[in-house]
Amino acid sequence: MTSLAQPSLFDLGGAHIVVTGGSRGLGRAVSLAIARAGGAVTIIARNAEQARDAALEIEQAGGIARVRAADVGEIGALDALVGEISEAAPIDGVVHAAGIQLRKPAVEIAPDEFLRVQNVNLHAPYFLSTAVARRQIDSESPGSHVFIGSLNSSIGLPGISPYVVSKTGLVGMARAFSTEWARHGIRANVIGPGYFATEMTEGLLANRADHDRIMGRIPMRRLGDPSDIGNACVYLLSTASQYVSGTLLNVDGGWLAS
Ligand code: NAP
Repeated sequence: MTSLAQPSLFDLGGAHIVVTGGSRGLGRAVSLAIARAGGAVTIIARNAEQARDAALEIEQAGGIARVRAADVGEIGALDALVGEISEAAPIDGVVHAAGIQLRKPAVEIAPDEFLRVQNVNLHAPYFLSTAVARRQIDSESPGSHVFIGSLNSSIGLPGISPYVVSKTGLVGMARAFSTEWARHGIRANVIGPGYFATEMTEGLLANRADHDRIMGRIPMRRLGDPSDIGNACVYLLSTASQYVSGTLLNVDGGWLAS
């Protein structure tokens, strides 16, 4: 008979999780959810004040949170950053929530604009995760790496082509890491959020026509709550998902199915 006294499968048991973009929006909800599940969080974002505010919210709720102010688009600095973060405690998992959007027709995108989106959304997750995995492999420690993708990890909505390229790339990245690192006990998965009210979608959702078009396609008839992404992350970071790797988990109220 199952005992209710068993520890929860979703208990992160003090695991140290790095959350990029953990200062606001979806990443902040992810940081809070991790702390509630008993994990210790290191938040990475450029705006140190906003990151400290997120950390304070976690600490006031009884959790553990640290802050590293950094631009993840500075690819060459990521290994040293991971080294510094690891000095406080070895890293057990990482959630890549830092991301940027660029709404512009593909034919008008300049090379530096395209590359900036790839640097933050795609190249940073690659080099941050490999820096973390290198240390996990060296110390023979398991790990879970979670990439925040998008509906555009599965489809290509118009007017945001660099974003589509980056978010589709994350699916390939998780697949490649999952097969290469499985023998080391390291898993890699993507979460595909639908629509959530954050700074990133503020302008889009403020437009009545866009808002109604989006709401009209969501079978659940509501935007996502950021905690929906937090809970999905906790699942993928925890042992509850120990046989899940290389997959894309859509958290979209049924949008892609409709
Ligand atoms: P948001 O509110 O704009 O938050 C973005 C976060 O990323 C902030 O913490 C920001 O902090 C950080 N960030 C951005 N560029 C960074 C950089 N170069 N270096 C370090 N940190 C950086 O966006 P969100 O809506 O929460 O989005 C979070 C993730 O979910 C993104 O990957 C996004 O593509 C994805 N997503 C969102 C939705 C949605 O409906 N909101 C849907 C699908 C996917 P700083 O500005 O201080 O650096």
